[in-house]
Amino acid sequence: MSKTSAFSGFYKLSLDERLRIVRDFAHLTDEEISLLQNTGSLPFDLADRMIENAVGSFPVPLGIAVNFLINKRDYLIPMAIEEPSVVAAASYAAKMAREGGGFQTTSTNPVMIGQIQVVGVKDPHRARIAIYNHKEDILKKANEQDPVLISVGGGAKDLEAKVIQTPVGPMLITELHVDCRDAMGANAVNTMAEAVAPLVERVTGGRVYLRIISNLATQRLARAYVTVPKESVGGEEVVEGIVQAYHFASADPYRAATHNKGILNGAIAVVIATCNDHRAIEAGAHAYAARSGHYTTLSSWETNDDGDLTGSIEMPMAVGTIGGAVRTHPIAKVALKILGVNSANELAEVIAAVGLAQNLAALRALAHEGIQRGHMQLHARNIAISAGATGELIDLVSEQMVQERKIRMDRAEEIIKKHGKTAR
Ligand code: NAD
Repeated sequence: MSKTSAFSGFYKLSLDERLRIVRDFAHLTDEEISLLQNTGSLPFDLADRMIENAVGSFPVPLGIAVNFLINKRDYLIPMAIEEPSVVAAASYAAKMAREGGGFQTTSTNPVMIGQIQVVGVKDPHRARIAIYNHKEDILKKANEQDPVLISVGGGAKDLEAKVIQTPVGPMLITELHVDCRDAMGANAVNTMAEAVAPLVERVTGGRVYLRIISNLATQRLARAYVTVPKESVGGEEVVEGIVQAYHFASADPYRAATHNKGILNGAIAVVIATCNDHRAIEAGAHAYAARSGHYTTLSSWETNDDGDLTGSIEMPMAVGTIGGAVRTHPIAKVALKILGVNSANELAEVIAAVGLAQNLAALRALAHEGIQRGHMQLHARNIAISAGATGELIDLVSEQMVQERKIRMDRAEEIIKKHGKTAR
């Protein structure tokens, strides 16, 4: 029987019961389980090798989003995030999506762009053509830098050259298109861009300054699509509310920023869990959302002929399953094993699906019940814990504060004092 990621009431299980499910799903070893249980799992000597001036490590909760069905395959999604309600919302949206057959995803080849800036050329348009005339030499030089990447089918595949106008004069920008296969690719691309710079200078007669990857990864896109039956999402009115919410965001950058932040809540949690470069994803996402000159949404929501809700997302997704810190960080390795992805492209597609799910959950909450109530309950729990509540006192204190609409530390302390002895 094929395994399922659909678990109702996963959140009600004890930590041990949840771990047992994840262990069985992903065939985790005892050692991997104990890495998850030990929240200080990054050894100091490893932290010290990863960054400069290390003084410790910084643990963030790792949750598992359930119910994800992507391209007819079940996934458990590891999410590293400090914000309450994100993992629950993703799981809930994935459950709704499942009722419509789950997410369908695609992606482009994992091609990153490396930029080489040339200044001081009097006739930049002539120089641009010269770059194209020497294309094969430039690509060959780039590919000599990374035999391992070439051996797995990657490497510099193409280039483009453009002239841009700036206040300090025209510049010629050469862009290497590098297929990074299962790596995020920044180191690989930067090495190539640096290596071809002398040749670019010779060919153009100009001076090269910057040689660096672009995080606006328009050649490396992940896409996800979902159909949610109107009954699953809460009926026609909720569908209408979600479509209206989408159009608001699509037209207004102030709303679009928060719409996209909701997408990134999900996407970035997976990016962090796999120790990928989340700054690269965030920079790419926002730049892509603004590529027309008008900052807009990364996702779209519509209705189909049956009145069901359909959603789609397209965004740059420069993530790797190899390289960087992905295979160095012990928890990231476990997270990748839980995901069970076989390539960077599959990881990118899963992340796009999680982003779309998170977006669905947020829009539904906004359109349906108001996002505040759920947030306040979780906020109240945090305040109750900060005020010293433990065990069943946490629920008791937080529920009373929500009812009274007084979610404050001083009120939590008062309630704890009143109930403290009897509740323990
Ligand atoms: P990397 O250099 O550690 O690993 C990539 C290398 O792995 C490839 O060049 C290749 O030689 C080898 N490899 C082995 N098997 C492979 C396979 N199946 N597919 C692809 N390559 C394979 O890392 P990277 O991915 O080049 O760079 C990622 C790191 O760069 C991240 O840590 C990121 O934070 C950092 N970085 C990012 C930026 C940015 O602007 N986004 C800039 C500089 C550095």
